[in-house]
Amino acid sequence: MMNPIIIVGGGPVGAVLALILAKAGIPVKILEARPQGASHGDQRALALSFGSRRILDKLGVWTDLSPLATSIQTIHVSQKGSLGRTLLKAGDYQLEALGYVLSYGALSAALEKALSTLPNVEMLFEANAEHIYQDAQEASVSYRMDGEGYLLESNLVVLADGGRSAELAHLERDTKEYGDDALITKVVAELPHHNIAYERFTPEGPIALLPNGERDFSLVWTGKKELIAPLLMLNDDEFLKQFHAQFGDRVGRFLSVGKRVCFPLKMSKLQPTQTPHLVVIGNAAQTMHPVAGQGFNVGLRDAESLAKHILTATPEQLGGVEMLKQYQASRTRDTKGGLLFTDFLVNTFTNDLLGVPRFRSMGLGILDVLKPVKKQLVNKMSFGK
Ligand SMILES: Cc1cc2nc3c(=O)[nH]c(=O)nc-3n(C[C@H](O)[C@H](O)[C@H](O)COP(=O)(O)OP(=O)(O)OC[C@H]3O[C@@H](n4cnc5c(N)ncnc54)[C@H](O)[C@@H]3O)c2cc1C
Repeated sequence: MMNPIIIVGGGPVGAVLALILAKAGIPVKILEARPQGASHGDQRALALSFGSRRILDKLGVWTDLSPLATSIQTIHVSQKGSLGRTLLKAGDYQLEALGYVLSYGALSAALEKALSTLPNVEMLFEANAEHIYQDAQEASVSYRMDGEGYLLESNLVVLADGGRSAELAHLERDTKEYGDDALITKVVAELPHHNIAYERFTPEGPIALLPNGERDFSLVWTGKKELIAPLLMLNDDEFLKQFHAQFGDRVGRFLSVGKRVCFPLKMSKLQPTQTPHLVVIGNAAQTMHPVAGQGFNVGLRDAESLAKHILTATPEQLGGVEMLKQYQASRTRDTKGGLLFTDFLVNTFTNDLLGVPRFRSMGLGILDVLKPVKKQLVNKMSFGK
């Protein structure tokens, strides 16, 4: 019997890979640092593309998740201080929805439940990977659990740790710090959302307001650290007033706000490596600005594509340089496209150079009448194409 494939990190990307493989009969072992159930309350709102929903559907977890997800029927893109705006509508592209908003916690719980029913999956919680070694023959992972040290060996180790511990495998990253933070929280608006997601570009940074629940929205407000830090300190009323001033009147007044948390924004990508028996996927491989909700969806496509390569490899090919090269090649376009696309949006629509605002609003106006460009945009956001 083959050694299980080892996945370091049981976040959504690692868990989806594990599910695809285990359902196809491949044994997997997942090392997850957090305690069991610890992520189920995570309220972070993930924007799932239609393509990601299809992946979850195929795995049989969408039925449980569907009542917890809010569909996005329309994306409204606007710019502060200009009349230019563009609308993307699911119906115009024969899509049931442009995407879905779902909490990280709900997704984690559904994936872990599905994994727990499969006999060829072993998920170890509070198992903290410390080092990954690899040579021409195999890879091994040392990890610590209950104060004891362990070592596992496999033909293939997949690093899906969200990028927390790049030093685990001595991998080099190229990182661009935006110098911006993202504030995330939930707000309740006076008017119903009608399943419209708003993307608003301001000179300080993009703001995304995603429908999440009956009347609730998840808010991602980005800007320079000096702008975002004081927003965390404001009382709720003052915060809502300031947000209303930035966002405008589209959904009326904002009535309440949840807990506000903030994280730094960066774009980062692993440098190309030739590491037999070790592959890196999801946020561990690339991190994007959240402006267009691309990062998480690119990560799920990493998992799906890697699974295809694993399932079609012979035992001799599994984890070999050739197989991993082919996997990397299959992902280059999507990953680069996602990184460039998000970076382009941030630079074009939030740059405050003289004359640029007029170009930007013209850009949005032109986009609104250019059907093929809009279709490409929808394809990119939905399927990474
Ligand atoms: C603070 C924060 C807020 C975010 N907010 C949003 C948002 O509002 N909307 C959005 O679309 N995206 C958001 N993102 C991005 C989104 O969370 C990621 O795109 C997505 O989680 C990537 O999934 P992943 O499985 O690759 O990594 P993760 O979800 O990070 O999962 C990695 C897993 O690996 C485990 N792990 C880490 N190190 C080890 C180790 N040494 N040993 C064993 N296990 C380990 C972790 O415990 C974790 O469970 C946010 C990211 C962060 C960090």
